[in-house]
Amino acid sequence: MCPLSKSETLYAEVVLPLPVDRTFTYRVPEELRGKVEAGMRAAVPVVKRIETGYITCLTPHCAIEAPKDLLSLPDEEAVFSPALLKLCRWVADYYCCSWGEALQCAVPAGIRLGTKMRYRLLDGALEGGRYSERQKRIIAALYKHGPLPQGRLAREVGGKTLASTLQALLRRGVISAEAMPREGAHVRTETYVSVVEDAVPDAEFLAAMQRRAPKQAAFYLDLLHTNEAQAAAALHAKHGTNASIVRALESKGLIARDERECYRRPELAADPKGAEKHQLNAEQQAAHDAITGALEARAFQTFLLHGITGSGKTEVYLQAIERVLELGRGAIILVPEISLTPQTVGRFFARFGQDIAVLHSGLSAGERYDEWRRARRGEVHIVVGARSAIFAPLPDVGIIVVDEEHDHSYKQGDTPRYHARDVAIMRAQMAGAVCVLGSATPSIESSYNAGAGKSLRLNLRERATSAKLPEVRLIDMRIESAETKGQIVLSRTLEEAVLERVHAKEQVILLLNRRGHSPFVLCPMCGWSAECDDCNVSLTYHRAGAHLRCHYCGAQHPKPQVCGKCHFNPLIYLGTGTQKGEDYLMKAFPSARIERMDADTTSGRGGHAKILTRFAKHEIDILIGTQMLAKGHDYPRVTLVGVINADTGLALPDFRAAENVFQLLTQVAGRAGRGDKPGLVYIQTFRPKHYAVTAAAAHDYDAFFAHEIAQRRDAGYPPFRRMADLAVEDEDPMHAERHAVRLHHCVRAAIDSLGLAGVQILGPSPATIRRVKKQYRWRLGLLSRSAKRLNLLTRHVR
Ligand code: ADP
Ligand code: ZN
Ligand code: ZN
Repeated sequence: MCPLSKSETLYAEVVLPLPVDRTFTYRVPEELRGKVEAGMRAAVPVVKRIETGYITCLTPHCAIEAPKDLLSLPDEEAVFSPALLKLCRWVADYYCCSWGEALQCAVPAGIRLGTKMRYRLLDGALEGGRYSERQKRIIAALYKHGPLPQGRLAREVGGKTLASTLQALLRRGVISAEAMPREGAHVRTETYVSVVEDAVPDAEFLAAMQRRAPKQAAFYLDLLHTNEAQAAAALHAKHGTNASIVRALESKGLIARDERECYRRPELAADPKGAEKHQLNAEQQAAHDAITGALEARAFQTFLLHGITGSGKTEVYLQAIERVLELGRGAIILVPEISLTPQTVGRFFARFGQDIAVLHSGLSAGERYDEWRRARRGEVHIVVGARSAIFAPLPDVGIIVVDEEHDHSYKQGDTPRYHARDVAIMRAQMAGAVCVLGSATPSIESSYNAGAGKSLRLNLRERATSAKLPEVRLIDMRIESAETKGQIVLSRTLEEAVLERVHAKEQVILLLNRRGHSPFVLCPMCGWSAECDDCNVSLTYHRAGAHLRCHYCGAQHPKPQVCGKCHFNPLIYLGTGTQKGEDYLMKAFPSARIERMDADTTSGRGGHAKILTRFAKHEIDILIGTQMLAKGHDYPRVTLVGVINADTGLALPDFRAAENVFQLLTQVAGRAGRGDKPGLVYIQTFRPKHYAVTAAAAHDYDAFFAHEIAQRRDAGYPPFRRMADLAVEDEDPMHAERHAVRLHHCVRAAIDSLGLAGVQILGPSPATIRRVKKQYRWRLGLLSRSAKRLNLLTRHVR
C-alpha cells in the first residue's frame, strides 16, 4: 500500500500489453489514492485511446512534465504480487518481450482484459453540475442504453472529440471506465434467503398460509427451522419451486434475500491410488530427505528426480508437499497438458482435497477465473496445472514440481516464448523455494545441468511396486516388409502377441504417431500428390467425412476422384495413420473392443478423460493412438505395448529428433507391466541399430545420454551453446528470401557493431515446411556460448 499521506502527489508507472518495452507515468488522482496498489490493472489514456495496463510501481516522483491522470481501477484487488511482477520482468528480459506482454500472458486467458473499455454512468451524476452540449449527449446515451463501449458511443453521438470528452467526464467522476468483461470472466453470485427475525408470524397466520399457499408455507417453514441463510437454488430443488416464490415471500416481508459470491468449481475425481499414503522405499526416502532438508532450510535448490516409469515419483512429490504445507507454505505442481492426465490430478485431489486449485485450458473461462482467485486469496495452498500455472498467484510458494519435465508442452509457442521449466527454476530462486524436476527421461539440458552441479540428481532405479520393467523386443521392419511384400500395419509377431492378450483378457496399447487415415494421396501414373494450397505439405486423408485435411492450417478439401494432373484413377493412399490402423485392427480382431485416441477423437471437453476412464474400467481391449497415449497413465491390466512406427520422428531435421524419439519410446514402453503380470513391448522399426531405439529397448538412459551429449558437444548445440531462432515470413517467395538475406546482413552488422564475437549464424535457409498458411518461411539460427550476447543481439534486430 502507498505509505504517502494524502497531501503528497502520487504517480503510477504503468506498462501496456503491447510490444513496447517501457513504462508510462500517470498521476494518481486524489479519489484513487487510498485504493491504488502496485500490481493492479488500470485504465489509462494513451494518445487518443483508453487502454488497460498494469501498474508496476507507485512513486512520489515524476520524470515527465504534465503527466495525465489514471482514469480508473477495474478491480478492487491487485492482480499481481510484487513477486510475480518481478518474475514477469525476468521473463520479459530473458525471452525478449515487453513487461506488459509477459504480465498479460501470466493472467489466465479468461480474465485477460482486452484493451476495449466501456463507459458507465455513475449514480448521482445527473444531479446538478453543468455540462457542455457534447457531454450532455454522452450522458443521455449512457442513461438510455446503459454501459456502452467507445465504438457504440461514437455511433450514437459522433466520433469527433469523443475521447477527450470522455476523459473530461471521467475526471469529473460522472462516468466510470471499465474493461469489457469477456465470456465467463465475471464474478458469479448466488441468491441466499433468510427469515426476517422480527417478522415471524403467529401460528394462526401460518395455518392460513398453509391452506392458501401450501408451497410458500413449506418453503418458509423449512427456512425458519434451519435458522440460517440458505442458497435459494437448493431450496427450490427440494420444494420444486422457483424464483417467484422468493419474490412473493419477500413482498410479504417474511424473508430477506442477499447475493453472495460463489465459485465455479471444475469437477475433480479422486483417484484411489493417491488416497493411500505409502511407506517410502529406501530410494524414495533418500529423495524425500534431500528435498525436505532444503525445504526446512528455506533454501533455493533445484533437484532432478530421475526415476524410471512406475518408480513412485508422485509419492515423493505428495510427501514433500505435505511437509511444505506443515511449514505453512504453498506448492505449485506443473503437469503436461493436464487434460491428458486426469489420473495425476485425481491423485493430488485424493490426498489434499479442497486445498487444491487446478488451472488448465480444459476449464471454462469462469472456472479458471474462480480457481485463480481462490489461489490469489490464499484460500488454497496447492495449485496443479499446465504450463501457465507457473504464474499461479499463490502468496508463498515453498515448492514447485515440474512433473515429466522433458515434456514439450512446457514450451509456449507464441510470444513470450517461455519455457515453464526455466521459469519454475527462476521463481523458486526468487522465492527461496525448492524446485523438483521429475522424469523417467530427463531432458538433455536438465541432465547436463545436474552433471554440472546446477541441480542435485536424485535417482529412483526400481519400480515402487513388485512390478518389473517390461522386456522390449525390436522388430526389424526391413526384413518384415521384404518377406511380406507389402504395406503392413502390424508385423506378424506383433499381431500374434495382440491376439494372445485379447484372448487372455489383458489390455493392449498401440502407438501410431500419426493421425488421420493416410498421410499421402498419390497418383501412381505421374507421381502427383495432393498438397495444401496454402502450405507446402501433403494432405492427409481422413476417413470420417471422406476428405483431405492439412495438418498445418486445418484446410479441408473433398477427396479427389482422379489425379489433379493427369486425371488418372484410382489414386493410391500411402502411409498409415491412426484411422487406418483402427480399421486394420477391427478386421484383424473382430471380437476385441477397440478404441482410438488422437486429436480427432478427444476434441470435446473432457474427451481424453472419457476414453481413459473406459480404458481403466476395461471396457476397451485395444487402445490405439498418438503420443498422447504415452503420458503418465497407470493401468495395471496393460501387458502389451506395441509401437507401430518408431522411427518417423528420427527423420526430422531437428537436433532434438533423437531425444524426442528416445523419450517417446521409453515413456510408452513404461505403460506395460505395471500390474502383477510382466509386460512385453514390441517396437517395429526400420532403424533397429539407431542409438535412440537401442537405448530405449535396453531401458538405458545413461547410454542414450552419453551418446547424445557427445554429439551435441561436437556440433556445438545446446546445452553447450544457446540457440535462438529467427523466422521470416512473407506471402511472396521472393520477398521472403530478400527479407531473410537482409536480416542476415543486419545480424552480421550488429555482431560487429556490438562487439559480439563468437556468435555463429546458421542460414538463412528455407524452413522445413517452406510454406504455411500462404506464408513462405525462412529461418536464421543463432548459436552462442553466452546467453547474454544472444539476448542482446535478438533485441537489437527485433
Ligand atoms: P511414477 O510417477 O514414477 O511413474 P507412480 O507414482 O505412478 O510412478 O507409482 C507407481 C505405482 O507405485 C503407483 O500405483 C503408486 O501408488 C505405487 N507406489 C508408489 N510408492 C510406493 C511405495 N513406497 N510402496 C508401494 N507402492 C508404491
Ligand atoms: Zn497423375
Ligand atoms: Zn495448409
